[in-house]
Amino acid sequence: MSDTIFGKIISGDIPSEFIYEDEHCIAINDISPQAPVHVLVIPKRGIARLADAQPDDQVLLGHLLLAAGNVARQLGVDNAFRLVINNGEGAGQTVFHLHLHILAGGTLTEGRMAG
Ligand code: AMP
Repeated sequence: MSDTIFGKIISGDIPSEFIYEDEHCIAINDISPQAPVHVLVIPKRGIARLADAQPDDQVLLGHLLLAAGNVARQLGVDNAFRLVINNGEGAGQTVFHLHLHILAGGTLTEGRMAG
């Protein structure tokens, strides 16, 4: 388990409400939502960044996408949601335990990065 806030949430050291859980991942509401629906899908296996994933993680990565779709359906936003993965500090990653952001419920404009 990673020594991050998400690792501690998954291990139960930090209490948090799981809105979804299966064998490989959990989903929680983001503590600082950037959209009316802002949920994090977090694998139980503590991969720091997407770029650190290995061929062995292939099934898990697919599983996370399927889980994100299931969570979106569960929340009734499966017709309009965005998935975001921030990889690295320069891209805004602050918690170094891989996670997918599900954003929905607002007007989703085209995502851009300045630069
Ligand atoms: P990122 O910037 O992509 O690493 O995303 C980390 C996300 O975790 C941010 O959107 C934070 O608001 C969120 N976050 C940090 N701590 C918690 C927590 N205890 N519970 C839920 N979300 C959290």
